[in-house]
Amino acid sequence: MMISETSKPDTVQTEKRKWLYPLVRKGKFYQYRTWLSYFYLILFFAGPYLRINGNPIFLFNVVERRFVILGQVFWPQDFFLFVLGMLAFVVGIVLFTIAFGRIFCGWICPQTIFMEMVFRKIEIWIEGDAKQRRKLDEGPLTNEKILKKASKHLIFVVLSFVIANTFLAYVIGSESLLKIITEPVTQHISGFISICIFTAAFYLVYSQAREIVCTVICPYGRLQGVLTDKHTLMVAYNYLRGEPRGKRSRQQTKAPKGDCVDCGLCVDVCPTGIDIRKGPQLECINCTACIDACNQVMEKINRELNLIGFYSEETIEKKTKPKFTARMAGYSSVMVVLFGVLAYFVLQRSDIDLTVLRSAGLLYQEQPGGYISNIYNADIINKTNQSQHINLVADDPSIKIKYIQTPGTLAKEESTKITFFLLVPATSIHNAKTDIKLNVVQGNKILGSANTTFIGPIN
Ligand code: SF4
Ligand code: SF4
Repeated sequence: MMISETSKPDTVQTEKRKWLYPLVRKGKFYQYRTWLSYFYLILFFAGPYLRINGNPIFLFNVVERRFVILGQVFWPQDFFLFVLGMLAFVVGIVLFTIAFGRIFCGWICPQTIFMEMVFRKIEIWIEGDAKQRRKLDEGPLTNEKILKKASKHLIFVVLSFVIANTFLAYVIGSESLLKIITEPVTQHISGFISICIFTAAFYLVYSQAREIVCTVICPYGRLQGVLTDKHTLMVAYNYLRGEPRGKRSRQQTKAPKGDCVDCGLCVDVCPTGIDIRKGPQLECINCTACIDACNQVMEKINRELNLIGFYSEETIEKKTKPKFTARMAGYSSVMVVLFGVLAYFVLQRSDIDLTVLRSAGLLYQEQPGGYISNIYNADIINKTNQSQHINLVADDPSIKIKYIQTPGTLAKEESTKITFFLLVPATSIHNAKTDIKLNVVQGNKILGSANTTFIGPIN
């Protein structure tokens, strides 16, 4: 029996674009992606409401410049940590791309997960498989078509609204989002407008833009040509096995042709509409849909699986195993160093951030009892999620502190500005400038420190 041939990808060529109707073939990788998407979706929607030590798991409040990563609060003062983290992340992505190509796009990127595992499934549920969807689009405007299209787009809008709310919760926090939802719109005009804009953006992305986000808009996709090389493992067609392609009957196990029966199924399932048999392409998001589809064909014709599989150019050409190259080793080392430095600084982070500046333009003053004084301004930030009753003490016990405003109790994540005098015994001053270390303490526990200088007369 001949494997049926699908002559062309299931597409409609319009003036503006080629509209795709990808088939869904449920194979091993599709199942893995489905499970991964469940995990991802639960995490995404529950994320803003999950707490670690009272803080959300992730918060990216760009407006207030307050970031929370895995329950750790990062303030503008921790910006270097944020930059370091981003740098380590980018190097990690580059390394991952050098080793495995664009697999992030097909398996982890929210765009693909929502498109293929949520919106596409809803579309299939309402409009049917690829052929039925195409027929519906090309057919006349019947009551059935109106009903199907209206229900699909209504669900898309509602879902986009839910995603927009969740997305906003990652930016402003779930408590602020709840206020926008429960309080009158007039009190949260900007929040309401943001939700509308995000809803419209998500709706347009998932109902219209779709694969164009991956093939044209996404800058990461355009970088593939630079990052990948002949050692990169990616979804590829083993042309040495597959060519020359051609139809054959199921009984023909020793056909003169290659293993590809030219059924076109790998093209029909591709969500970006490419033919992987033409070689690696930038548009390939490594979703593995073509591997599943081709493996089903190989099973039917009793041929070895993975005619399309994870291969590098070299593993196909030389029939060797994948290599861990010097380039991968180089990026791995940089990434390990960056993550190591980041971990060190994160662990060294104090609970209280203290910045002390001597008042500009003021000289020292002589004080009774043989002391010299300087006046200082300090910014103190409580980075913890508990209130802290704090005090300042100098490392040198002979130095006294006289407050103009006392630090007192700082509520969680609150900051304060204080002014105070440092009184240093004149006999301890031997230079025009003396380095002094100040600690923020609660009881006997040091919560943070800062260095400053003290000016005085030279004895
Ligand atoms: S590579 Fe596999 S799925 Fe694609 S046309 Fe050939 S046999 Fe069919
Ligand atoms: S070529 Fe295969 S792996 Fe690449 S996007 Fe298309 S179906 Fe997915």
